[in-house]
Amino acid sequence: MPLPRRTPLERRTPMPRGSSELKRTPMPARRANPRRYFAKAIPETVRRQVLARDDRACCRCGHSVIGQRYSLHHRKPRSQGGEHTTANLVTLCGTGTTGCHGWVESFRDRAREAGWLVPRSVDPATVQVRTWQHGLAWPGDTWIPVD
Ligand SMILES: [Zn+2]
Repeated sequence: MPLPRRTPLERRTPMPRGSSELKRTPMPARRANPRRYFAKAIPETVRRQVLARDDRACCRCGHSVIGQRYSLHHRKPRSQGGEHTTANLVTLCGTGTTGCHGWVESFRDRAREAGWLVPRSVDPATVQVRTWQHGLAWPGDTWIPVD
């Protein structure tokens, strides 16, 4: 014998159309689709070339990046037309928010003075970089020290 129901069954009414409870919370606005800029990875040959040129060390502080988090940093950002070239890429320790890569992203004026960042309109091959390994140097397949 089933137990008696404590509350009577009630007619279920659907929520009215357009009820605020049915509306979805909008997705947070995004600045841009990040895949647009990073969809094309750095070619493996260029990656190896840059790491070999930089002795697998951070160009800003000189610490080895072997077994560490590091970035091949685009001096002219991908979003501004920067390419995967040895002149545009430098080895930096850390990520976009940590280590020397983080420093470059945080102190953009000083990074620009040292050649770590290059404006949109400028060819990175024509801008010297202050490197830990070679001092002030022209970037490319090898570093060419200025003095
Ligand atoms: Zn570093």
